Amino acid sequence: MPVTPSRLERLRRLARRRCDALLITHLPNVLYLTGFRGSSGVVAVAPEAAALFVPALYRTQAREEAREVEVRVAPDPLRGVARWLWARRARSVAYEDLHLTLGQLELVRRELGGRAELVAGGRWVEVMRATKGPEEIARIRAAQALTARVFEEVLPLVRPGVLERDLAAEIDYRLRRHGGQKPAFDTIVASGPRAALPHGRAGGKRLGQNELVIFDLGVILSDYHSDMTRTVFLGDPPARVKRIYRAVQQALERARKAVRAGVPARAVDAAARRHLERQGLGRYFIHGTGHGLGLEIHEDPRVARTSDARLAAGNVITLEPGVYIPGWGGVRIEDVVVVGWRGARTLTPLSTELPCL
Ligand code: ZN
Ligand code: ZN
Repeated sequence: MPVTPSRLERLRRLARRRCDALLITHLPNVLYLTGFRGSSGVVAVAPEAAALFVPALYRTQAREEAREVEVRVAPDPLRGVARWLWARRARSVAYEDLHLTLGQLELVRRELGGRAELVAGGRWVEVMRATKGPEEIARIRAAQALTARVFEEVLPLVRPGVLERDLAAEIDYRLRRHGGQKPAFDTIVASGPRAALPHGRAGGKRLGQNELVIFDLGVILSDYHSDMTRTVFLGDPPARVKRIYRAVQQALERARKAVRAGVPARAVDAAARRHLERQGLGRYFIHGTGHGLGLEIHEDPRVARTSDARLAAGNVITLEPGVYIPGWGGVRIEDVVVVGWRGARTLTPLSTELPCL
C-alpha cells in the first residue's frame, strides 16, 4: 500500500510530549505505518530514524514492502528493537499497552537495562487510523462492492433444505474468487431461532420454510475490510416479521441521519436505540450500533452507548441495529458509511428492503 510520507511524522508529533521513542508491535499498526504485511515484525520510531525489525524469513518481503523505515533482521524482532533503542539512548519509550503482553514488556525492560522509562502508549496509531484518507475510503468502497456482489450471487441458492455452512462456504469461495484476500471474519449464516444469536456462526442447520436468515459477511481487499449484514425471509413474511424488519430498517435510517462530523458517537447509537425502544423492541437490541473498520474489522470509533468518541470527517463506520428474540429469531441490517461534515455517505451499494425468497 502506498504510505503517506507523513504517517510516521504525524505519529512522532502526536507522541512528542509523552516520549522520545515508540515501540509499535500491533501488526495492523505496523502495516499502517510502514506498508509491511508480514505476520511478524516490530517498528521502533525515534526522533531521527525508524526501523522495522523482522525475522529472517521476512527479509525480502520487508525490503520490498516497507517504506520510510530501515529494515533490520533479528531472530527475535522485539529484542532487536529494544537493543536498537538502547543504542540510540532513548530515555522514554512508549509501548502499545493494549497489545503487548506482560512477558514481552519484561523482555523490553530487561534489554533497555533501566536506561529508559517505559510509558504506556495508548492508542496513538489507532487514533490516526480512525480518520481515513480518500485512498483508504476507495479501498473500503471496493471491498463493500465485492461483498454486495457476492451476496447477490448467492441469493438464488438460499432456499429451504440448504445447510447454513454450505452457504457460508459458497460465500467464502466467491469472496476469494472475485479477488478478495480472504473473508474479513467467520461468515455468519444464522437461520430460524439461530438468528437470535448476533454472532451465530454458520453451522449444520438446514434453512427452513418461513424462517428469517441473517447473513453477515465481509472481505479483505487491498488490506481493507468490508462488513455487511442482510436478513432475508424464506416465504411470505407474516405481519410480525414485517413489523420487526421495518423497525430495524428505520433504526438504521435514524442512525444514518444522526451521523455527522462533530457529533458524539453515542448520539448515533441513541438514535437507533430510541427508535427500537419506541417500537417496544429496545430490550432485544443487545449490542452497540456500529464500529469503525479499516485495516481491522473492529476499529475506532465505536458507536455504542458507552462510547466517548466524537465522530470526525473521514471516519468509516458500520451502522448495524438488530433485534434478537430468543426462540423466535432475529433481524440485523448493516451498512458502512463515511462520516462527513454534511452527514453520512453510504458505501454499501445494496437496498435495505427485505428480500423474500
Ligand atoms: Zn457484520
Ligand atoms: Zn459489523
